[in-house]
Amino acid sequence: MSASSDRQADRQEGWQAHIITLFPDMFPGPLGTSLSGRALETGTWACQAHDLRAFGTGPHRTVDDTPAGGGAGMVLRADIASAALTETRNQAGDLPVLLPSPRGEPFTQKMAADLALGKGGVFMCNRFEGVDERFIEAHDLREVSMGDYILSGGEMAVFAMLDAIIRLLPGVMGSSASHDEESFTDDLLEYPHYTRPASWQGRDIPAILTSGNHGEIAAWRRARAQEITAARRPDLWARFIARNPAAALKKPDDEKSG
Ligand code: SAH
Repeated sequence: MSASSDRQADRQEGWQAHIITLFPDMFPGPLGTSLSGRALETGTWACQAHDLRAFGTGPHRTVDDTPAGGGAGMVLRADIASAALTETRNQAGDLPVLLPSPRGEPFTQKMAADLALGKGGVFMCNRFEGVDERFIEAHDLREVSMGDYILSGGEMAVFAMLDAIIRLLPGVMGSSASHDEESFTDDLLEYPHYTRPASWQGRDIPAILTSGNHGEIAAWRRARAQEITAARRPDLWARFIARNPAAALKKPDDEKSG
């Protein structure tokens, strides 16, 4: 096999997304359009939804039961969740498994980038109040959160995670250079963008951006990114200045003029 057909074979393999869910029809859903949709068509990634209901018991293929200790809602059974995950892992091979959960570690750009470097992932979607804790312990699952709010199921979290991962796969976005400047890559939020018209409702594009001086434009953008991050996200800013102590010494204004 030639080197180029080897690469072709790699590409055909694609990044494997396995989703265990009570609503397999939801997938690929919005991920079937736009950038991720084209990447799905060309085999850059593949999407397989596994029906959790198929592992349920009884005539209604029940997957949940009432919470031990009482209280509202229902809990996904450990034995059923485990059967579904074990079967999926048998098919999928050795891929990282993520359990969307408001208790999890916050999903970050770094996590998306790490996952994009791998071969794929298994996403275990909960509904109801959650899943029996023994299932999480037995499989030593990594819980990841989309943010400090409650969704009605893991599926919406999986859409967001997969979207963040897929756009980082080789060839999905036109220019990979644009990843390097995006928010969070360097613990900084992005600088502001402008495009034509040059003047709109009395607001002009900052003159430096039309100066053609690439060095000064880069310095201006860096200064704005730092200014916005310091103002909006003290948590990111603290991490940034820990790595770039010099940035803390000069006021963000220093690079504004010119
Ligand atoms: N009773 C739970 C919330 C259950 S919401 C609690 O108070 O923590 C039902 C399911 O939706 C969760 O089990 C989880 O799989 C998913 N989910 C809800 N909010 C989420 C979030 N912020 N991030 C990731 N998954 C979430």
